[in-house]
Amino acid sequence: MEKIVLVGSNHAGTAFINTVLDNSDDKEIVVFDSNSNISFLGCGMALWIGKQIAGSEGLFYSNKETLESKGAKMYIETEVKNVDFDKKIVYAEGKHGEKYEESYDKLVFATGSVPVIPPIKGVELENVQRVKLFQNAEEVIRKLDNPEVKDVVVVGAGYIGVELAEAFKRNGKKTTLIDIAETCLPNYYDPEFTTLMRDNLKDNGVNLAFGEAVKAFEGNGKVEKVITDKGEYKADLVTMAIGFRPNAELGKGKLETFRNGAYIVNKKQETSLKDVYAIGDCATVYDNAIDDTNYIALASNAVRSGLTAAFAILGLDRPSNGVQGSNGICIFDLKMVSTGVTENRAKKMGIEVLCTDFEANQKAGFMEEENPKVKIRIVYRKDNRRIIGAQIASKYDMSMAIHMFSLAIQEKVTIDKLAMTDLFFLPHFNEPYNYITMAALGAK
Ligand SMILES: Cc1cc2nc3c(=O)[nH]c(=O)nc-3n(C[C@H](O)[C@H](O)[C@H](O)COP(=O)(O)OP(=O)(O)OC[C@H]3O[C@@H](n4cnc5c(N)ncnc54)[C@H](O)[C@@H]3O)c2cc1C
Repeated sequence: MEKIVLVGSNHAGTAFINTVLDNSDDKEIVVFDSNSNISFLGCGMALWIGKQIAGSEGLFYSNKETLESKGAKMYIETEVKNVDFDKKIVYAEGKHGEKYEESYDKLVFATGSVPVIPPIKGVELENVQRVKLFQNAEEVIRKLDNPEVKDVVVVGAGYIGVELAEAFKRNGKKTTLIDIAETCLPNYYDPEFTTLMRDNLKDNGVNLAFGEAVKAFEGNGKVEKVITDKGEYKADLVTMAIGFRPNAELGKGKLETFRNGAYIVNKKQETSLKDVYAIGDCATVYDNAIDDTNYIALASNAVRSGLTAAFAILGLDRPSNGVQGSNGICIFDLKMVSTGVTENRAKKMGIEVLCTDFEANQKAGFMEEENPKVKIRIVYRKDNRRIIGAQIASKYDMSMAIHMFSLAIQEKVTIDKLAMTDLFFLPHFNEPYNYITMAALGAK
């Protein structure tokens, strides 16, 4: 029996366990996780906080008992403190101080990521809240129920911050969203699209403080104000959503790491040390849009990397295809999806790109029903005309279109090939001249 020790059993770890145990009977898996629950879908956190779903029950898809019934040996609420990579032994400690040691043939790190909390003055004040775990969401909901919590500030206007701002507004709280950048979601969309989301937030009553740097939190024990370089905002509750960093402490100094500390892995999720794998948010990805190693912390990537490591350990030839960082967001009914790189980001990286934009009705003009506009941008390289990014926005659910762009980037499709690709027409779904075809035909 080959013995595998897995550290971390959230999305990446759970995918790994299921795939190994569903496909073999000669592997023993020992699992450590420091948390009390596994498989919490953080993507549902804002929906739960914003009362768009009734409760948290549907936000879990696995648990200790299910994985044990498949044959995994589970140590929950038990933190791995140290690994002896020469002797191949993992040392862990339970919440009551119990000590455990487990030897391994193969070790898999799935230790995820942790919120970035900068050392801003007052960050330790009560009600300055992290948002990552199920327990964090419970705390936020409990605090929101207090009628004295009237003003809420969200720091960071990435997708989590924007989702939380919507959730707080839905709770009737006076909500301010602060970001040092001049807009929201700048990592995923160009200004033509971020402006749509900015106006959407503003129109729905979120107070925007973009282009402002948080300097301090002030209060007497509990937070009362957020001070920026340009102003100050009353705050009974603050959520920090400025990003995540890989949790890769256990292999520090032993395994090769990326510029942000993530374990560098190859397309089989192998690290630089033999028999040690890394999956999910603690590891790098291969980014097809830039043809290079990158760090993109998403549950979708975590799950696929768990499958990839499992296939590699099972001896199956199914390496990673790489990723495109495809993502989506839906705020007060405005839907935006993107994949690959934006024009802005490509330029910052020194990649020469061109863009083609198009805006149309979603459905055929003669349809006598609601027919929202859809706006698309395709980003392609100037040198070889390969598509390396796409962004789409609409009030209509056009999200599935982005998957085609994800595949196009992965398969190195050119803008000219896309222009002549067979895209179906049906009045209920699109115009006779599909907006994707029109955008591609408009490429210079
Ligand atoms: C609010 C929010 C919304 C999100 N929305 C989306 C979304 O819509 N779509 C999307 O794709 N992604 C989304 N994400 C990102 C997604 O949740 C992460 O990419 C995903 O959780 C990564 O999974 P993971 O298993 O790699 O790591 P994690 O979820 O970070 O899990 C790591 C696990 O390792 C355990 N662990 C860590 N160190 C140790 C140790 N030393 N010993 C034992 N156990 C340890 C932890 O307890 C944890 O259970 C969201 C995240 C948040 C916070």
